[in-house]
Amino acid sequence: MTKICTYQFEEYLRFVESFHGAVAPGVAAGGFMVDLAMSRMPEGTLFDAICETTACLPDAIQLLTPCTVGNGWLKIFNFGRFALSLYDKYKGEGVRVFLDPVKLEAWPEIKAWLFKLKPKSEQDKEVLISQIEQAGHSVCGLQPVRVKAQYLEKKSRGRITTCTVCHEPYPARDGVVCRACQGQAPYISFTPSGQYWD
Ligand code: ZN
Repeated sequence: MTKICTYQFEEYLRFVESFHGAVAPGVAAGGFMVDLAMSRMPEGTLFDAICETTACLPDAIQLLTPCTVGNGWLKIFNFGRFALSLYDKYKGEGVRVFLDPVKLEAWPEIKAWLFKLKPKSEQDKEVLISQIEQAGHSVCGLQPVRVKAQYLEKKSRGRITTCTVCHEPYPARDGVVCRACQGQAPYISFTPSGQYWD
């Protein structure tokens, strides 16, 4: 039976479905990647995680390790690379796991998915998930990493002050008003009436 950390593969897929909303191939493949990385960390190491894509993989890390975006132990660098690292949170030494394109040649459905070679409608999800299970760790590349010191310290947000535009607390070092009020908010407009939509 295939296992991902302490879970049977099928059990992991149900876990993925409830957390992620669907049995996403990326979270399935990501499970094996996390499993491989964890198996290489010395017993008892307190580790943090880095994920190099915002898509799917962060959820595999959050499901299988104590590292979450919310607790600050998972950092996401949006490079669009399907790769992750686990590393000693004090020393910065760890392992990086990625999907190796050469090894993917043996698994056409996985390759087609990762390289987006066919539209999702033509994707045979059952075959894809089955190939991910059969391939397991064999499609992963592994390399040692040492994380830069600047990422090992907890970043303090410094002094907090109240924004003179939105009247909400924000880190004072961001400027005279908060970053949202500087024009970086993702919302279209604020109307005085508080009426945002019809
Ligand atoms: Zn503001």
